[in-house]
Amino acid sequence: MKKFSEIELWKDVSPEEWKNWKWQLSHCINTLEELEKTITISDAEAYGIKEATKELKMRISPHIALMMANGNHEDTLRKQFIPSYNEVKTSNVYGLYDDVNDDDGYSPVKGLVHRYPTKVLIFPSNFCGCYCRYCFRRKLKRDVEDCLKQADYDNIFKYLREHPAINEVIFSGGDPLVVDDDILKYVLSKLSEIDSIKIVRFHTRMIITIPYRITQDFVDMLNIYKKRFALYMVIHIDTLRELSEESKEAVCRLVDNGIMCFASCPLLHGINDDEAVLQSL
Ligand code: SF4
Repeated sequence: MKKFSEIELWKDVSPEEWKNWKWQLSHCINTLEELEKTITISDAEAYGIKEATKELKMRISPHIALMMANGNHEDTLRKQFIPSYNEVKTSNVYGLYDDVNDDDGYSPVKGLVHRYPTKVLIFPSNFCGCYCRYCFRRKLKRDVEDCLKQADYDNIFKYLREHPAINEVIFSGGDPLVVDDDILKYVLSKLSEIDSIKIVRFHTRMIITIPYRITQDFVDMLNIYKKRFALYMVIHIDTLRELSEESKEAVCRLVDNGIMCFASCPLLHGINDDEAVLQSL
């Protein structure tokens, strides 16, 4: 198993930096040139990356790139996170940035989707630890990676107060855990003042892509609010291959602190559309 310090791109990185989720988030790989410094890229992959990144962003966390460096060319991690020419070709069927879910049609205020009577989605950011190549929220574009501002949240809280039938808030992605703890704390604190909100769910892939995000400070914050809401962490994971030791530690830290964890798993052609793969997961 290669260590990160054995890879040219990270030879000067300290263990403290490597385990810091903010360092990981700000050192994600966005170009073919950087990726080639971490893993061996085939000609077909290089062509796919060049073509796809003319239109779409690539983002691979150092943690996931190191896992790829310890895998092979058939690794499903590559299919999940390395852009391919096929990805651009699908734009002949769907527009590359189509709002395929019609989120905009159900969005009364910025950052909120109200599709079902009792629950809403909130998108705290438009970016993630890694960009999954099958993401159906390409409409977010991500050329400018951004988070909601306090004024946006205040509009959302006003909407929630005006619609007391809503009892469930789902933070989704972009990944809500790219947001700093102090902002999440502000949001949870304000939500806790709205009596009608009973359930809060975080849907995240950061536990897989940057597991260092689950710090004890973050868990301590959740511990405060789990007394006020039914609080769930829903972890997006597609294959057992993605579950690193660090991800397992992150899940254990949550579970050991009484945070309820679930998995969410899209069915992906050539990755996990197989009974044995799903059973192992
Ligand atoms: S983590 Fe979710 S929102 Fe982000 S790119 Fe992957 S599928 Fe899309």
